[in-house]
Amino acid sequence: MKKINILDYLYPPRCPVCDKPVLQKESHDGFCATCLGKLPIIRGKRCCKCGRALSDLEKEYCSDCLKYGLAHIYDKGLALCTYDDALRDMIYRLKYGNRSEYANALGKLLADSFATALKRAGAEGVVAVPLHEKRIRKRGYNQAELLAKSFCMHSGIPFYKHYVERVKDTKPLKSMSRPERQNNLKKAFKIGKNDVKLKVSIVIDDIYTTGSTIDALAEVLKEAGVHKVYFLTVAIGDD
Ligand SMILES: [Zn+2]
Ligand SMILES: [Zn+2]
Repeated sequence: MKKINILDYLYPPRCPVCDKPVLQKESHDGFCATCLGKLPIIRGKRCCKCGRALSDLEKEYCSDCLKYGLAHIYDKGLALCTYDDALRDMIYRLKYGNRSEYANALGKLLADSFATALKRAGAEGVVAVPLHEKRIRKRGYNQAELLAKSFCMHSGIPFYKHYVERVKDTKPLKSMSRPERQNNLKKAFKIGKNDVKLKVSIVIDDIYTTGSTIDALAEVLKEAGVHKVYFLTVAIGDD
């Protein structure tokens, strides 16, 4: 039997695309039907490295990975949607507009889309890109962690909240070049205290831009003995 949450009736969760409340009887996994249909979900051929939609179906890699692919420390990634104006607004509200609830619907969609493939690839545990505690205090939550929790709840893959910590409060990467990003992320992460040793892990974040953040995290994970680092994001730029 489906669990009924009274709060869903009093305060129905909002659709991540249009931001309107969606009643449970009209909800398609937390989205309105039309909004779910409008999401730019990547369904065609993907880049073998970063998972973005390929513009040239003859190729195996996107233009970004043809240029920088070999330098990546992560092994492979998957993204749910191609970044567009609607995704930009959605992620902005998720991060800064007090719409942490979007993470429930988005995490489920990530699980429905990718959990089987990731389990087949041996994924044993999930790590979210950590925020520095100063930012958590300011924002109240870490959106990557909420996405990871929802993904784990729906996929059954365990979440390791303290596997990696952010020890440096890095500047926002938005307007930085690739080398500036890499420099800014140096020594940003360290392995936390934990009893588990993962061999194959998934790193979850909201968006993939140049991959610098995921690489910085993958570097620390690999130094700690993780053999394979996959990533999963809600959005990624086009090819
Ligand atoms: Zn909607
Ligand atoms: Zn790529």
